[in-house]
Amino acid sequence: MIDQAVSALAGKKRILVFTGAGISTESGIPDFRGPQGIWKQFDPADYTYDRYVDDPGFREESWGKRFRSPYLGASPNDAHRAVTRLWDAGRLVGCVTQNVDGLHAAAGLDPEGLVELHGTANQIHCISCGDRPEFDEIEQRWESGEADPSCRRCEGILKTTIVYFGEDLPVDATTRAWNMAQRADAVLVVGSSLCVYPAAFVPLDVVDRGNPMVIVNRGKTDHDFRATALVDGTAGEILPELADRLIDS
Ligand code: NAD
Repeated sequence: MIDQAVSALAGKKRILVFTGAGISTESGIPDFRGPQGIWKQFDPADYTYDRYVDDPGFREESWGKRFRSPYLGASPNDAHRAVTRLWDAGRLVGCVTQNVDGLHAAAGLDPEGLVELHGTANQIHCISCGDRPEFDEIEQRWESGEADPSCRRCEGILKTTIVYFGEDLPVDATTRAWNMAQRADAVLVVGSSLCVYPAAFVPLDVVDRGNPMVIVNRGKTDHDFRATALVDGTAGEILPELADRLIDS
């Protein structure tokens, strides 16, 4: 299976890597739709932007979940590091991730090569004036009793940059993701069920222009039928070998 993936990507110098929650399960963060998936514990309908803006109680609950999250201390795994190695070896046009865990950045991926399309849980902004206070500063204010800290500059509502349901994708990240897709000569999907839109349009755009798509995923995705090569397996095992063989090819 890896042989087919290596053949599909051999010689490609502008590979777009597109990652989803599955690349981080080996770092201890559950995916959305697997058996231990987050949606087994939370109701997606609760996580809307309008509710966040309208309901101070919901914001307090959200800050509590954020600062008490068991995932705050998660570390990148071998799959994240393999993506960084591919970038450092000059084989990638970039990596577009749907993940909000910050683990590609923690694995040393150059910010130039990384687009966090759904935002990140480690950055905070004011939804009114756009100010970006330090995460640690807001955590300290929360620890010292501010259950729903507001913007010090304009008194507006603070929020992590995670994109909630009903919220537009960040313009800058969307533009950069499309630019990468337009320049890519192949796409490598890792740990995504490819069923969340508009994010899934990014890898599909690369395929629509006649380029190969390799999917490394445990189980099926919605677009297996469009893949040039499918590797049904664990990202932390497959990606290091795939990266080694591509860097040598
Ligand atoms: P998804 O849950 O829909 O799909 C994840 C896929 O990865 C599944 O098919 C699963 O079988 C597979 N998988 C799980 N562990 C794997 C492993 N070790 N190796 C290979 N494959 C593995 O996730 P998605 O496609 O990213 O889309 C859902 C949304 O999930 C995204 O919008 C993202 O923002 C959000 N999300 C992010 C995180 C995170 O930041 N880590 C966690 C949960 C959900």
